[in-house]
Amino acid sequence: MNLAKTTIKTPLVPIEFLLPENPAESIACQIFIKREDLNHSEISGNKWHKLKHNLIRAKQLNCNQLLTFGGAFSNHIAATAAAGKEMAMPSIGIIRGDELANAPQKWSPTLLAAHKNGMRFEFVSRQTYRRREQPDYQQSLLAKYPNSYLIPEGGSNELALLGFKELMTDINQQCPDWTHLYCAVGTGATLAGIIRYANAGLDKPRARQIFGIAVLKQATYLLAPIHHWLSCSLPNMDKTSEQNDELVHWQLLTQYHGGGYGKQSDVDAQQQLAFEKQHNIPLDPVYTAKVIKAVQQEFAQNRIPPKSKVIILHSGGLQGRNPDINLKL
Ligand SMILES: *Cc1c(COP(=O)(O)O)cnc(C)c1O
Repeated sequence: MNLAKTTIKTPLVPIEFLLPENPAESIACQIFIKREDLNHSEISGNKWHKLKHNLIRAKQLNCNQLLTFGGAFSNHIAATAAAGKEMAMPSIGIIRGDELANAPQKWSPTLLAAHKNGMRFEFVSRQTYRRREQPDYQQSLLAKYPNSYLIPEGGSNELALLGFKELMTDINQQCPDWTHLYCAVGTGATLAGIIRYANAGLDKPRARQIFGIAVLKQATYLLAPIHHWLSCSLPNMDKTSEQNDELVHWQLLTQYHGGGYGKQSDVDAQQQLAFEKQHNIPLDPVYTAKVIKAVQQEFAQNRIPPKSKVIILHSGGLQGRNPDINLKL
């Protein structure tokens, strides 16, 4: 597979957006959903963009396996296993929770899918898992699994950002004059990539407002890594990036976590279903449903001016979605 050439164009779908509080009134803005959930059957959404340049680097370095970290419900674990299979590169997952070792009956659908795609697991205690960023721990793993290419949790590193250059070039071709973009934030690497490449592919950069919706509580600690990623030097930087700073405004919105990571109230679940039915677009409760809800709230509070062109990034994540929800659609 030639990864550098594997860019799948997904549709930018206009939607008519109704506020749940006032369902008769549609909004005086153009709203689009960028369907990145459709970019790959298994390495879906933002995880594909984040992995792409890491996979290229792994090949360049002649590594013969991928080694990464995640919890039992991690979309990144599923994506890495699928990518490893596609590239004929075995993958190893360091998984949080040693109670899962030797207990495949307790494995989540995510772990089962990764296992099916050939990922080997090492289950570690929560205490050990906390060391995942420590160099000495990483060295010991690389000694145990030699010639591995190490990818951090969530696939979030500098090379991950580069993947969003292609995505933003694509969006800028489909809708050059967008004004607002909303995306989900777990680690913040996706948000940082979108900010950096907000004007990719355009001769003349435009003013943009970009909002990251934190899906976990007390997310302000994410600002430090986001600022780091915004300042790191990346290969293939384009001319537009320098002018970017003045024109591209961004914010991390921390009030829309809806109870915390992986949590969803019954009311929010109902609103997710209502949206899915109305638009025939599946969401996931952990990330994208929270972004939709956030945008509805921002409209309800008049934070988005009339005539704005709003893009909502559908970042995928459907692999871990509760299959029961499909039955209700
Ligand atoms: C992982 C994930 C995110 C968060 O991406 P970060 O780069 O970690 O902020 C958003 N949406 C979906 C569907 C994801 O799987």
